[in-house]
Amino acid sequence: MARRSSRGSRERGPIVSKPYEFVSFVDSVLRQEVPGHHVVKPDLRTGMLAFHLRTLTPLFVSSGQVALSEDLGLKPGGVVQAHYRIGDRLAIPASSLKGVVRSVAEAVSASCLPRGLTRASARDLPPAFRRPCTLRAACPACTLFGMGGKDAYMGQVRFEDALLQEGRTMIYRLPALYRPRPGAPIYRDRNRRYKGRKFYKHGHPRPADRGGEREVIRPGSLLVGQVSFTNLTDDQLGLLFYALGLESRFLLKLGGGKPACLGSLLTEPVRLVLYNGREAFLGEDAIETAWEGERLSAEVRRYIADARRSGYILACQAEELERVLRFDPDALAECPAGAY
Ligand SMILES: [Zn+2]
Repeated sequence: MARRSSRGSRERGPIVSKPYEFVSFVDSVLRQEVPGHHVVKPDLRTGMLAFHLRTLTPLFVSSGQVALSEDLGLKPGGVVQAHYRIGDRLAIPASSLKGVVRSVAEAVSASCLPRGLTRASARDLPPAFRRPCTLRAACPACTLFGMGGKDAYMGQVRFEDALLQEGRTMIYRLPALYRPRPGAPIYRDRNRRYKGRKFYKHGHPRPADRGGEREVIRPGSLLVGQVSFTNLTDDQLGLLFYALGLESRFLLKLGGGKPACLGSLLTEPVRLVLYNGREAFLGEDAIETAWEGERLSAEVRRYIADARRSGYILACQAEELERVLRFDPDALAECPAGAY
């Protein structure tokens, strides 16, 4: 009698693997004094970038409130957790965008770990991470995105809320196992050693038959975002562009239900404006240069390529991150429906 091979049993259903992977830690943290906000320095980059976010899977950012489905313009008769809105506009809050972009920037540069975590587990961390960043010695991520605590700093970049421009919502049942939760940003192995920074992979989402209903933004919808920046070096601007996913080598993953494969976002640059000189700070007589279309794409790629070449974007970590966050529509894994 033929024995059933493990391969045979696997063929009965989709191959299910855990929905996350790790990006290795760096050996050292690069730290420099933060440049401050009081003056715009002419030799550094100050300006803003407008960008599009296209949803490739359902997107759910919780408003923290439940609503009657008919009040949201959806099929009547349900009570759903509503998507985040500003006024009556569906949106992604600036803080969510900043958090996601920061986590990518942290992973591919010589940056520290989130501060609370450093304090709690200093003993088990690689030596480079045991000391927190300060105003006099801040890592790339803390310089760009800011830090809290004693040396509170607002950072050199500021995100706006991204508003829905095209598309609408629908009701989606999230598998009960995958309630929206922040999830640990790093993870230990059986010997309690840290494995690296944790990122959820993209995959085919599968709604549950039962479970809580959520209002999600449909795949194929378009949101418009904007980030402004002050006093960035070319390397820092390259890192920011990279972490936004503007090369399309990887896609961002944002919002609730990440383990259930929600929240895959394709980003595209729309308009870059750079200001020149001190006057830019006052908004008068500012020399302004703007890029759009093909010229903008080339400019964005040039900044990223330069930051790679200088080593500010770390080749090994970037390669790992791109492998984890790759979105290939023809080879997308099924999202696990059970425990993993
Ligand atoms: Zn830091």
